[in-house]
Amino acid sequence: MTNNMFFIANWKMFGDFKSVNSVKKVIKLSKIKKYKKAQIIYCPPFTLIDRFLNLVKNSKITVGAQNCHYSEKPGPFTGSINSDLIKSSGAKYVIIGHSENRVTGDTNQIINLKIKSALKKKLKVIYCIGETLNEKKKNKTNLILRSQIIHGLKNIKKNNSIIFAYEPVWSIGTGIIPKINNLEKQIYDIKNMIFKFWKLKNPKIIYGGSVNSKNISELNKISSINGFLVGGASQNSKNFIDIIKKTIN
Ligand code: PEP
Repeated sequence: MTNNMFFIANWKMFGDFKSVNSVKKVIKLSKIKKYKKAQIIYCPPFTLIDRFLNLVKNSKITVGAQNCHYSEKPGPFTGSINSDLIKSSGAKYVIIGHSENRVTGDTNQIINLKIKSALKKKLKVIYCIGETLNEKKKNKTNLILRSQIIHGLKNIKKNNSIIFAYEPVWSIGTGIIPKINNLEKQIYDIKNMIFKFWKLKNPKIIYGGSVNSKNISELNKISSINGFLVGGASQNSKNFIDIIKKTIN
């Protein structure tokens, strides 16, 4: 296990004011000495960010948003929220490039603008990359990942404010995770791609896709992983706590 581990909870379009209270158990855990190296970041829906910030204010848990608009400036974009608004909400992170947003129109070019605007506002970025099942079947995984890295990060200087989340699309919400050997090799390949592109030696790479309290011990065998992006299982505090406890043991 690497030193600090990220546990990023992506609540997607779930959660209400009541469910936020269950997070108190996770806050309690985060204060135990043994779990201090767990960097817990909650990314709830925009409407719950303020609630979360209030709840976690006396802990080291931080809060992020799940997406942002590409426009740095305010504008006529009904229903959208840009990095400036996220920054002023008090959130510190933003997820960009999630496959659930790529399918509704986020191209690598749009993602590139989003990342640039987030970094300008001094938000940390959780940059999701990953191949679809079809791309995997055609042996195009590395081609796709390379392209997501090169185009998504075009004209962005090497920095440490981006966490790379490798999320194979075929694994998200399906209960299927990659074979451990394959995943280990994939993380190695991604590190090499980032090194070639940025000359960055130790990028932070986390894994996401059907992480749960049953498969976490297996996933945790991969020492080069810097943490996990957890969707479904993070919405239940007991499951999320189990994941953290089994990782930091
Ligand atoms: C995600 O949406 O980022 C994710 C990892 O989802 P799940 O854990 O539910 O597969």
